[in-house]
Amino acid sequence: MSSQWIYMSGEYVKKEEAVVSVYDHGFLYGDGVFEGIRVYEGNIFKLDEHLNRLYDSAKSIMLEIPHSKEELEEIIAETVRRNQLETAYIRVVVSRGAGNLGLDPASCANPRLVVIAEALALFPKELYERGVRLASVSSRRNRPDVLPPQVKSLNYLNNILVKMEANQAGVDEALMLNDQGYVTEGSADNIFIVKNGTILTPPTYLGALEGITRNAIIDLAEEKGYKVKEQPFTRHDVYVADEVFLTGTAAEVIAVVEVDQRKVGDGKPGVVTNHLLSEFRKVTTTDGYKVYSKDQAHVS
Ligand code: PMP
Repeated sequence: MSSQWIYMSGEYVKKEEAVVSVYDHGFLYGDGVFEGIRVYEGNIFKLDEHLNRLYDSAKSIMLEIPHSKEELEEIIAETVRRNQLETAYIRVVVSRGAGNLGLDPASCANPRLVVIAEALALFPKELYERGVRLASVSSRRNRPDVLPPQVKSLNYLNNILVKMEANQAGVDEALMLNDQGYVTEGSADNIFIVKNGTILTPPTYLGALEGITRNAIIDLAEEKGYKVKEQPFTRHDVYVADEVFLTGTAAEVIAVVEVDQRKVGDGKPGVVTNHLLSEFRKVTTTDGYKVYSKDQAHVS
C-alpha cells in the first residue's frame, strides 16, 4: 500500500482507495475545473493566484466549490503536510460530481473535490540547457466564444490533440494558433518571444490560458527593466524572433531553440530567457503560502 494521502471531499484516503464514481460528470463529460500548483521548499507558489483562477473557472461554468478560498487553502496545505512534502506538485480538481448519464448538470448534487500532492519529477537540467523544439500544428485553439481557454476546465482534448501532433512531428511541444492564424500558446504552457529587446506575449483573448507563471514573468521582466507587451503575433514573428520561451507551472521558464525546423537565434537558450529563469527561481520559494510554520519540523 502506498504511503500517499489524497484529499477526497472531506477525508484523506490512501492513493489506492482514492477512486471516484463512473457516474461523475468529470469522468463522463470533462465537466469540472482544475489547477496545477507547485510547492517549492514549503512555499506554495502564488497560491492566491491559483485559487482565484480556480474560483473564476468554476464561476464561469456555474460550478459551486463547496469551500471558501481560505478553507481550500488550508486543505491544500494540509495535504502537503500529510504527505510530508517540501517541494512537490499539487493537483486540485473540482468535478461536477456524480449524477445520471444525461449531461444535464442538474442531476449532480455534490461537486467532488480532490487534492493530490506528490513529489515532482523535475524536468532534467539538460532540457533547460539545451532548450526545446516546437512544431506548429494543424488543430486550432478552441475559440474563446465556444469553449473559453481562460477556463481551466477538465476538458483538455484540444490540448491533448495538439500534444499528439507534436509527438508525431517528433518535437517537444506544439505551437498552437487560433482560427485566424495568430499564435496562442503551447499544449500546456504560454509563449513569449523576444525581438530587439522587447518581450512579447499574446493577449489571452486570442485563446490562451492566463498562466500564473506568464503573469509572474511579465511582472519580473518589468521589474528588471524590460519592455513587455501583450500583443498579437504570427508564426512568422516566432520564426524571426531573437529568443522564444515557454512558461508554465511544470516547465517554469524554458527556452525554445527550434520552431518548424527554423533555428531560433543562434539555436541556444538566449540571455533574456536565462536571466528571467534565474530571477523566477529566486521568487519561487518566497512569493506564496508557507505550508510549515517556523515551529513545525520540516521534512528534510
Ligand atoms: N496554457 C495551458 C493550456 C495550460 O494548461 C497551462 C498549465 N496550467 C499553462 C498555459 C500555463 O499556466 P500556469 O503558468 O498557470 O501553469
